[in-house]
Amino acid sequence: MKFQPKASHFINGEYVEDTNGAPIDVIYPATGEVIARLHSATPEIVNQALNSAKSAQAKWEAMSGTERGRVLRRAADIMRERNYDLSVLETHDTGKPLQETLVADATSGADALEYFGGLAASLTGEHIPLGGGDFVYTIREALGVCVGIGAWNYPTQIACWKGAPALACGNTMVFKPSETTPLSALQVAEILIEAGAPKGVYNVVQGYGDVGASLVTDPRVAKVSLTGSVPTGRKVYAAAADGMKHVTMELGGKSPMIVFDDADVENAVSGAILGNFYSSGQVCSNGTRVFVQKGIKEQFLARLSERLATAKIGDPLDEEVNFGPMVSENQMNIALGYIEKGRAEGARLVYGGERIDGDGFYMQPTVFADVTDDMTIAREEIFGPVMSVLDFDTEEEVMARANDTEFGLAAGVFTNDLTRAHRIVAGFEAGTCYINTYNLAPVEAPFGGSKMSGVGRENSKLAINHFSEMKTVYVSMNDVEAPY
Ligand code: NAD
Repeated sequence: MKFQPKASHFINGEYVEDTNGAPIDVIYPATGEVIARLHSATPEIVNQALNSAKSAQAKWEAMSGTERGRVLRRAADIMRERNYDLSVLETHDTGKPLQETLVADATSGADALEYFGGLAASLTGEHIPLGGGDFVYTIREALGVCVGIGAWNYPTQIACWKGAPALACGNTMVFKPSETTPLSALQVAEILIEAGAPKGVYNVVQGYGDVGASLVTDPRVAKVSLTGSVPTGRKVYAAAADGMKHVTMELGGKSPMIVFDDADVENAVSGAILGNFYSSGQVCSNGTRVFVQKGIKEQFLARLSERLATAKIGDPLDEEVNFGPMVSENQMNIALGYIEKGRAEGARLVYGGERIDGDGFYMQPTVFADVTDDMTIAREEIFGPVMSVLDFDTEEEVMARANDTEFGLAAGVFTNDLTRAHRIVAGFEAGTCYINTYNLAPVEAPFGGSKMSGVGRENSKLAINHFSEMKTVYVSMNDVEAPY
């Protein structure tokens, strides 16, 4: 098989296999072809991985931040050198066009390794002077063994967004990729070893949800970082709470994008395209509820349809193609099911709406107009290329409607009115907001959700606080006064 790795798991610096685990077939979404067969981790494999991470941790933490950072920065360089091959692999794993994977996957993983590698040497505590000469100092300590659990839409990026800050702080990691896209995390693990990471610092185990669940409840684990759906997040958060573990939850969304009639329509259409159809719509922060002010609605829809007609749908390995298949038949069927619901509930289909014939899991980019707030397609996360366009009249009205959702991952506004733009983002109940653009997530900026979309933040300096904790040391320079 074309992309068969040496073995399913990567533990203590080596590939490890246990064929007793349930099989995981890796399917190339463009053709339906099986490109690798892996095995879900058995309890013995999980145990081995956690032991490996546990025994590597103290030594890794004892290295200087400069040394740890150097390993991460070397890994970033290796990833960039191998970007083409890693992108081809990612395209086979996810179906995303090479045009995207070449610029958004291994490269963004490398950015995280470089950024947190750069920060590693500057992670410190502080000195706090008190009255009478006493003082406190704080020591920033690693949490211990961290578990990362990934979704299937950005497998390399997620493996690095979790691994890089964890390792920079002196933790070790056991990462479980999504069973749908298990291949690229193994490459990240290999590259870290090549870059000089001690064995056991970054381990990968494959598996379905039950493997994730067994990692979360294990007493050796201090922290869990999940990227996934809200229902999974609820389960993982609850299981982690039982052991009082630290968590980061990067979950789903149904984010609003508001387009006022004074906006630059071409930019707004570009933002709506990026925020709904990049990666065939399989992006958590997508602005899938596009509120367009009535005055420009028809102009917006006309330009959107014209531009969607120029999308190049096809073989994701052709670098001209910019719209690929869905990650799996299942995900395609979920999205097609929502299109049926949209039709049945009376939304107006203005573009697409159909599966594309063939062996691959292709469907058309789809736009519904005249969507109302109560329709299923406006309330539930679809995680596919289905945009809902809703009309509005006033700022006050749209603000309330935009926030009327259990989710709070992202939100965007297109307007040329400067004060209105800032007023709107101040009112958004969302973790990541955009003014006159959409869906950019540079490693320098915090990323994450509020409300049901998650807890904690990835990326930026803030991620450090989610992968380390402070020890407080009170130092007395005086005699101890006791009451008796
Ligand atoms: P999912 O929730 O089905 O699975 C996510 C991961 O959790 C997988 O690795 C899965 O095996 C594992 N898992 C499932 N049940 C588990 C359990 N009980 N205990 C531990 N682990 C378990 O999500 P998905 O379908 O892989 O990904 C799509 C979802 O991810 C969407 O909701 C999307 O919005 C979200 N997502 C969020 C972000 C973000 O940064 N906020 C990024 C990408 C995707």
